[in-house]
Amino acid sequence: MHLKAAAHIEAMSAFALANFGGYDRTTLAQNESAFPPSPRAIAAGRDAMTRSHLYPDPDWTELRKAIAQAYGAEPDLTLCGAGSMDLISCTIAAFSGPGSQVLGTSYAYNFVASAVARVDAIYLKAPERDFAVSVDNILTTLTPATRIVFVCNPGNPTGTVIPNAELLRLRAGLPRDVLLVVDQAYGEFDDQDPKPVFALVARGDTVVLRTLSKAYGLAGARVGWGLFPPAVAAQVRKMQNSNQVTTSSLAMAVAAMADQAYMRETVARTAGIRDQFAHDLRSAGYHVPESRTNFVLIGFSSAAVAEAAEKALRGAGIIVRSLGGYGLRDCLRATVGPQEMMDRALHILIDMRGE
Ligand SMILES: *Cc1c(COP(=O)(O)O)cnc(C)c1O
Repeated sequence: MHLKAAAHIEAMSAFALANFGGYDRTTLAQNESAFPPSPRAIAAGRDAMTRSHLYPDPDWTELRKAIAQAYGAEPDLTLCGAGSMDLISCTIAAFSGPGSQVLGTSYAYNFVASAVARVDAIYLKAPERDFAVSVDNILTTLTPATRIVFVCNPGNPTGTVIPNAELLRLRAGLPRDVLLVVDQAYGEFDDQDPKPVFALVARGDTVVLRTLSKAYGLAGARVGWGLFPPAVAAQVRKMQNSNQVTTSSLAMAVAAMADQAYMRETVARTAGIRDQFAHDLRSAGYHVPESRTNFVLIGFSSAAVAEAAEKALRGAGIIVRSLGGYGLRDCLRATVGPQEMMDRALHILIDMRGE
């Protein structure tokens, strides 16, 4: 081929999603909600489709108000995007660049590594401890070239949380010119008060990201949001394509935000299925870290056993996420899906222990 992309793009690998063998079935591989979105969100989205000849509100005015209502978040500090992936890549593009470093943690969300590679920056990982983020390790891995520290809390693919106090300690230990990004995609599954971490945004050096893809069951609508200090927001907005969040997605998101009771019910039902599944797996001898998300990490005795389990589940039409890309070949990640599917997955995994 004669055409060449930029050298750093040629060198990077494409972002790897799970291997589904088609999109025609429910999978336990993408951390999608086990439950559909609020009926009010669906009705609002349908209604908004009639206005699709008009561009959407580029300032997400109604959604910012709805988020402020639900979270006590400052509308002036809120940015929205086409999923929080949009906000992650725009933040990284604005605040790092060729030769600068972004510091994540060993098992942190892989998309961050892709977003860093796109802008020819360098991605470093601080080791985690017992499948949880270690603030001490982040602080010792930091270098003078580090521009952004990226932490997922709760973590993906681990599912674990660290206390808010640890995030405050991390912020206090970082230089003021390092941007801390706290990705709380699963924040609604964590019962800690969100306010102390949201309050860090007022310092001017911290961003907190959320999404409607998980607890609100709107992964297909592509709506994320975050709290950004005004000076940071001004730069990130330059990287965003305007009108990224569609009219119908905005309408769905506003209605979903306003229906907090439905979201809480979804979270409670999901957590109920998750905790029983995790408990039964532990009883069968699997290592399953305590999850505060809509998925569980399952540890196997070896990579070969994990691979055999992945195959056995796949044979039964259940797709889970292999984690070789995270350096966790001996683990699988299973999203909490419909009860009936979790029961089938559990039986397959228990039978494997018996062999
Ligand atoms: C799912 C997920 C996201 C974002 O997803 P969007 O659908 O783009 O909002 C971000 N971070 C983590 C850790 C996730 O698991």
